[in-house]
Amino acid sequence: MLLQIETTHRPATDLGYLLHKNPAKLQSFDLSFGKVHVFYPVATEDCCQVAVLLEVDPIGLVRGRRGPSGNNYRLDQYVNDRPYVASSFLSVALNKLFSTAMNGRSKERPELVEQPLPLKATLSVVPCRGGEELLRRLFEPLGYALAAERHPLDDRFPEWGEGHYHTVRIEQTISLRSLLQHLYVLIPVLDNDKHYWVGEDEIEKLLARGEAWLSTHPEKDLITTRYLKYQHRLTRDALARLVSEDDLDPDATEAKHDIEEEEIEKPLSLNAQRMGSVLAALKASGAAHVLDLGCGEGNLLRDLLKEKQFARIVGVDVSVRSLERASGRLKLERLPDMQRRRIELMHGSLIYRDDRLTGFDAAAVVEVIEHLDPPRLRSFERAVFEFARPGTVVITTPNQEYNVMWEALTAGTFRHRDHRFEWTRAEFQEWAERVAGSHGYTVRFLPIGPVDDVVGSPTQMGVFER
Ligand code: SAH
Repeated sequence: MLLQIETTHRPATDLGYLLHKNPAKLQSFDLSFGKVHVFYPVATEDCCQVAVLLEVDPIGLVRGRRGPSGNNYRLDQYVNDRPYVASSFLSVALNKLFSTAMNGRSKERPELVEQPLPLKATLSVVPCRGGEELLRRLFEPLGYALAAERHPLDDRFPEWGEGHYHTVRIEQTISLRSLLQHLYVLIPVLDNDKHYWVGEDEIEKLLARGEAWLSTHPEKDLITTRYLKYQHRLTRDALARLVSEDDLDPDATEAKHDIEEEEIEKPLSLNAQRMGSVLAALKASGAAHVLDLGCGEGNLLRDLLKEKQFARIVGVDVSVRSLERASGRLKLERLPDMQRRRIELMHGSLIYRDDRLTGFDAAAVVEVIEHLDPPRLRSFERAVFEFARPGTVVITTPNQEYNVMWEALTAGTFRHRDHRFEWTRAEFQEWAERVAGSHGYTVRFLPIGPVDDVVGSPTQMGVFER
């Protein structure tokens, strides 16, 4: 099975930097089901083409496994199309080879990650029983120009007609990251055969790779159903969580911008005051089981762990890197068993409904809402207040009016470059009253940090109670 991706962006060899694979080298990697090779048939200033050659070992696939009926000797286990076609194996290989690019990171060419580039991808053999029509329904809404060539079942017997194998070319000016994500999700959808994977974590992968585009794709039901291989419960969960699309790119820029925000707010040690106020509100609520939604690197989690009152503490964040840092900073690996059992970190997004978040007494959402695009805020409201429904919700967000008090901040800018908005007290209160009212909560407001007569405090806090 061969996948080729080509660009005419100049210098075209930037493709190598984006993929983190050197155009001068042939590299091979072992996979549990075979081998994958990456090389560049063409690598010039004007045109660069990367080839991914996947060799699936059909014998290796069945070794040690029993057939569905307990019969180990079914011929189709050994003689099948798996070595030759684009299937979920190719997606697994893409993930292994290019996960950095798919996550939107590039060490050497960060500026190119989101940039649309002229890209062309060719899949040598795609099994697709729905024919060219299905190919078009899947790729064209994403903006691709598509050409498909259907192959006869057997050249020697034209009367047998056409098979369901196609050579497919797609072309578009698009970021490499998006192209890889589309291929990762859609290849197994087209194949629709037995998948190498089936499990709960496939929902996470589907949502992660489909975050920016799946919820608005007209075929999202078909894609989700087939990707999850007709496992109805998984499909339902995945669709339910696609409340809205999410194009957050949490890891790329957060860390740097966090430092900027800290610098601006430093003289007040506002962060410490914020954690203190939130902790006090959570303690006063009498909660035992608490969520820290958008926990970042675990500032609040550290304080929560110190309080015996909190018997179960769950930190959730969309950024895997932040969770890893939180785990390191809290030294989770080294905590004694009793302590370790109290705390859990979960990867998840607050704009999707998530059943893991139900049944808690309280939730903190500290300096998170301003990172959400206003349309996504709606999904966040539902995910938290309608579905997770903790007894108490403590939300903090910057008070925009206070920005005039900071010398380091130029007029009209936000404290953190990833903030999508910063609200005045009136704006926050209006939002909070509406959310509380429509979900059966009451809300009260408290200032955090020094209070100025005119502009109020730097941070504002809403405490919602059911
Ligand atoms: N509460 C932490 C971190 C605040 S920074 C603290 O006060 O220190 C905002 C955090 O929200 C980041 O860690 C970011 O990854 C997370 N975040 C942003 N959008 C999110 C979403 N949709 N779901 C979950 N976490 C999100």
